[in-house]
Amino acid sequence: MTTILEALSDNITIDKNKCIYCGKCTEACIVDNIRLKLPPCRGKCPLDLNCQGYVQLIGRGEINKALEVIYDTTPFAGILGRVCHQPCEAACKRKDIDGQPVAIRELKRFLADNGTFAPDSLPKSENGKSVAVVGGGPAGVMAAYLLREQGFQVTIFEASSRLGGMMAYAIPDFRLPLEVLTREMGQLATIGVKIRYNTKVGKDIKFDEVVKSHDYVIVTTGTPVSKKLNIDGENLPNVYDALGFLRRAKETEKPAVGRRVVVIGGGNTAINAAQTALRLGAENVRVISLECRDGLPAFDSEVKEALTEGILLDCGWGPAQFLQDKGQVVGVNFKRCVAVCSKDGCFDPLFVEGERMEVAVDTVIVAIGQGADLAFLDGTSVEKQGGLIIADPITMQTAVKNIFAAGDIVTGPKSVVEALAQGREAAESIMRDFVGLSISYERDRMTGYETEYLIDVSKAVPGSRLKARAISPEDRRRFVEIENSMTSEQAIMEAKRCLSCGEPFGKYRMCWSCLACEVVCPEEALSIEVPYLLR
Ligand SMILES: Cc1cc2nc3c(=O)[nH]c(=O)nc-3n(C[C@H](O)[C@H](O)[C@H](O)COP(=O)(O)OP(=O)(O)OC[C@H]3O[C@@H](n4cnc5c(N)ncnc54)[C@H](O)[C@@H]3O)c2cc1C
Ligand code: SF4
Ligand code: SF4
Repeated sequence: MTTILEALSDNITIDKNKCIYCGKCTEACIVDNIRLKLPPCRGKCPLDLNCQGYVQLIGRGEINKALEVIYDTTPFAGILGRVCHQPCEAACKRKDIDGQPVAIRELKRFLADNGTFAPDSLPKSENGKSVAVVGGGPAGVMAAYLLREQGFQVTIFEASSRLGGMMAYAIPDFRLPLEVLTREMGQLATIGVKIRYNTKVGKDIKFDEVVKSHDYVIVTTGTPVSKKLNIDGENLPNVYDALGFLRRAKETEKPAVGRRVVVIGGGNTAINAAQTALRLGAENVRVISLECRDGLPAFDSEVKEALTEGILLDCGWGPAQFLQDKGQVVGVNFKRCVAVCSKDGCFDPLFVEGERMEVAVDTVIVAIGQGADLAFLDGTSVEKQGGLIIADPITMQTAVKNIFAAGDIVTGPKSVVEALAQGREAAESIMRDFVGLSISYERDRMTGYETEYLIDVSKAVPGSRLKARAISPEDRRRFVEIENSMTSEQAIMEAKRCLSCGEPFGKYRMCWSCLACEVVCPEEALSIEVPYLLR
């Protein structure tokens, strides 16, 4: 015989052909009964982006609605669809079936290129408070967008003449075309964010002045300073610092490179500089890193891409000396490096002095890391450590109550999606403070999620991962975008490989049949069967 309690646990029905996995029902449940089984892809996204939702919608052919799902979290689908380092795909359950994750990032790009979605005109009302965002990179623009949406008067102080930070002046155009960046950054001005270009805080305006004239400040100035090797010859004309080189390569007058180029470093900057040198006409490009192949800080997908283009990679070598002739560097002498860090994880390379390698060069690019420039904070109470700002990892608040910090300036060089996520957290803290809520209470984004559950793989559609048409080897020597967009047919087929891992469910067998979840569900995907005795 079925008891009333058992009946209460079975009364929630979800139609998986309609559900978009938004989780609104879990938020609406007044007795905290409904949980969302969190798909592994979403669980690994720093932005908590509803990957399953937009992938499922593509599979159903609902392209514009799928783009809208991304806009629920971020307006930067075209950027993320190109340069995100796709932690979602590393976790994708589809890998258990055929070793190949669903192409979640490429699908996002497909939506940005083919979908249309116009957010409602924002903000709906002004709230009278002002926020200064110092630095217009991903952390800054994400915070600015969200705060403006909520009616704050937001001003971005940006040192350069463009928004986007590293995306504007370091990530090459063949990975992130200028028109995509310009289009998505344009959304800031459209919703009324004020932007003061060519305004370096600390030089063109004092930080104190910025603080005094705004209710809140968010510092997102990143790590724009290339680190130096401090080796004799580093200042000779055929030796470039990587950030300067990449920045100039994005301008009309490009930097000159010789036939043989050596890039010293093992991060994304080194790989992107090598790819750029190739496109500027170099014939032989070698990336030489301290780290071993498995320890390279560059994203693996980018390293593989560079190898495909014919870039050579030598791992486990550190530069010892620049060989000079007639005011040029003509060779680099390297010594073998067997460990980059000490046992306690600190940077402390261990070299084998006797093992050497000499490489003849026409151009050298130094890409050994980036640091912050915090001089503008001197004399303030904002605390710093190791050349970065100290901020609470959840609220992003600094030692000064109304000053927040986010992105690379807090974490050191990381990624676009992590900077966006931190910008969002700083914005949320300000929104909470404005309405008088605690900025730290219940900030755990995992609330309402269930991570331990069995995923049904029995209905997996067979088929290997699809890829957009590859660009030609000749185009890999020019500044043509490195990836194409999928066709609609490809995107739909690829989306159908998704196992649709997650779903909402009633966890605690205590449904009160109040129907809040049913009312809030935007897709009419959820229905509650009200037991006879409660009617
Ligand atoms: C070559 C290269 C390639 C990369 N490739 C990728 C990739 O493929 N995928 C990925 O996810 N990540 C990549 N990254 C990392 C990513 O770009 C950064 O992690 C991210 O941009 C950090 O964002 P942010 O907002 O913290 O800082 P930034 O992007 O550095 O933006 C900081 C902004 O602040 C401005 N600013 C600095 N000082 C001041 C001041 N005093 N006053 C006013 N404005 C100031 C700067 O001009 C800049 O616009 C790459 C980085 C580099 C260098
Ligand atoms: S199979 Fe689909 S829902 Fe599951 S992890 Fe991969 S993309 Fe996400
Ligand atoms: S049932 Fe409705 S509200 Fe709940 S996750 Fe699905 S679409 Fe969203």
